[in-house]
Amino acid sequence: MGDKNNYDISFLCEFKDRNIEKEFLNYELKRNAKVIGPIIIIYGLVYFVFVVSDYFSIMNTQSFQFILTVRLIFLASSVLIYMGMKFINNCDIMIYLITAYEFVAVLAFLMIINQYETLTFLSILSVVAMNAAIFITPNKLINAQFISLFLNIAFFVFPANHIYGIDTSVLIKTILYVIMIVTYCNIGFYLNNYYKRKQYADSLELLRLSITDSLTGIFNRAKFNEELKKWTDYCSRYESDISLVFFDIDNFKRVNDNYGHMTGDKVIQDIVLSIQNKIRSTDIFARWGGEEFVILLPNTGNDQAAEMAERMRIAIEKITVSESENITCSFGIATLRENESSESFIKRGDKLLYEAKRRGKNIVVYEMEVLEEVR
Ligand code: GH3
Ligand code: MG
Ligand code: MG
Repeated sequence: MGDKNNYDISFLCEFKDRNIEKEFLNYELKRNAKVIGPIIIIYGLVYFVFVVSDYFSIMNTQSFQFILTVRLIFLASSVLIYMGMKFINNCDIMIYLITAYEFVAVLAFLMIINQYETLTFLSILSVVAMNAAIFITPNKLINAQFISLFLNIAFFVFPANHIYGIDTSVLIKTILYVIMIVTYCNIGFYLNNYYKRKQYADSLELLRLSITDSLTGIFNRAKFNEELKKWTDYCSRYESDISLVFFDIDNFKRVNDNYGHMTGDKVIQDIVLSIQNKIRSTDIFARWGGEEFVILLPNTGNDQAAEMAERMRIAIEKITVSESENITCSFGIATLRENESSESFIKRGDKLLYEAKRRGKNIVVYEMEVLEEVR
């Protein structure tokens, strides 16, 4: 409840916390899903259209047929991935798929280039374009780097013997230029991904702050009201019990007056800690305001809620501000009635808390009609 997360980013430009990284990738890939699909189809089509240039450049029919087949296979795999992406919700599988696709694109490119007897100015440009495409496609930095490294080494080492008539010094300069471009691509990719993650972390932190109480770290009233609405709707629809516990510190003004506000704050924090041990992870615990708290207990009937509140009351009694003075709280419990609105539900809880105060404090009071003391 309101825990602070670790949003540190590693040198590989990923959140160090694997769960946050996963959440981020899911969010990012979902956000980009509408763009990635068409980009892949465009890659496939552009790749295929280049067959026209092959037709005029490649004289050997067998070589041309080979290139045509490779380009067709790549187009088909682009369409397959485009269609497959619609059914994939898992970010890990998406990343594997995108990386595998990029790898196939690079392999196809190298196989085609290898059919050419000589490499030209255009071949150099195409390897630069391939690098740019790798670093534009959303992926993990390490995967993009691996694919790009494979492309560049394979291009310059493997078919370099095709580079006919190119002076060694020109070849070295070309390699240096490609290294420069790939470095720029890396820096751009890194910065882009770094700031995207920073922005994501900031938005999560803002969201956390907007729903938490800063003194205690539990939910604030706004978040409680949102959850209350959601749960009352759910429990009304599925006819499931739901109860709420309202409680307020007894004579808290006196604690502040006698021991100071700092001690008062510490008491509020101690109460929250002791209650957190008594509730379930599905219960919604919030600071209603000042020294008043509320807990929403889904799937809990009136008797069970009263028992829980009684255990809380006893636990709070153990908190002391001095050797002779204990802290106590008064509790009001309400259980949702058929067709009841969340506003009326809350009002009844508040009334029962008031009744507990009226009856002398440090007690649990439940259901208006019964008005029966548990203690
Ligand atoms: P009762 O038993 O009827 O509840 O009496 P009470 O003295 O607790 O009365 P009331 O609930 O009206 O008092 C609320 C007091 O709680 C007044 C306010 O100064 C104090 N308070 C509210 N929020 C905080 C807080 O965050 N820190 C501290 N130290 N005091 C707070
Ligand atoms: Mg009070
Ligand atoms: Mg109060």
